[in-house]
Amino acid sequence: MTNSPVKVTSKEQIKQILDEHDTFIFDCDGVIWLGSHVIPGAIETLKLLRSLNKQVIFVTNNSTKSRKTYTQKFAQFGYDATKEEVFGSAYAAATYLDKFVQLPKDSKVWVYGESGIVEELEELGYECLGGTDERLNEKFSASTTPFLPLDPKVGAVVAGLDTGMNYHRSAIALQYLLNPDVHFIATNIDSTFPQKGMILPGAGSCIESVAYASGRTPTACGKPSQNMLDAIVSDKGLDRKRCIMVGDRLNTDMKFGKDGGLSTLLVLTGIETEKGAFESGVPDYIADSLGVISELYE
Ligand SMILES: [Mg+2]
Repeated sequence: MTNSPVKVTSKEQIKQILDEHDTFIFDCDGVIWLGSHVIPGAIETLKLLRSLNKQVIFVTNNSTKSRKTYTQKFAQFGYDATKEEVFGSAYAAATYLDKFVQLPKDSKVWVYGESGIVEELEELGYECLGGTDERLNEKFSASTTPFLPLDPKVGAVVAGLDTGMNYHRSAIALQYLLNPDVHFIATNIDSTFPQKGMILPGAGSCIESVAYASGRTPTACGKPSQNMLDAIVSDKGLDRKRCIMVGDRLNTDMKFGKDGGLSTLLVLTGIETEKGAFESGVPDYIADSLGVISELYE
């Protein structure tokens, strides 16, 4: 089913969007900031929504940072986001393991990824192994690794972007994944990770080596997977009909919102063009930027 997207250009349209939605779910990069630069008007719109008692939730696929680290980035831009407003793929993976897999809390988790994943799992009460353990930086040897024999209490491998990936980490993660009873969860499976003008390997590319070796496919939690949205809806107790997803990408953000039964607003401050957005027939609304909402509301 395709939409005829509506370009948001009037105060009446803004009022209607505000009337029809209680919860605004945001992608961050390309919507609120571009790397380390805030997008003009974005913070004003967030403050407007807060003054109108709207719930805001920030959704990010970056698993290397915990929710707490994200709130510090918002603080730099003059917005005091709370930890509860941030929903990263590391937290989504931890929530998925807790609420949907219902992995018992006396199980341990092997982390194939960075500290953001460990922090979120520990906060939900899971003991983590692997992750940023410095002993994993040693060259792998089956006879000297301190991670063998395997810990029988490990019930899941949670994998994400790992800028310290090496053979030792892959070798141990694989040993756990060879046991089909051990759950395999990915924070997200983005092939690439755009940073500082470069295209770098994303979480999916890091995870692929152990997925390939084990012959298993992880359950992915990040956008556009509905596991992420299900985790948010469950965690926050949301009414999907009163939620709108705001993002800058058609194939992740808009697909994520639309597949999940939310309204969708595409902003043109990221990678999509107005022509492409209209032709896609995907978003309900299109706006030049997030700042348009606060500008037109005044
Ligand atoms: Mg984005």
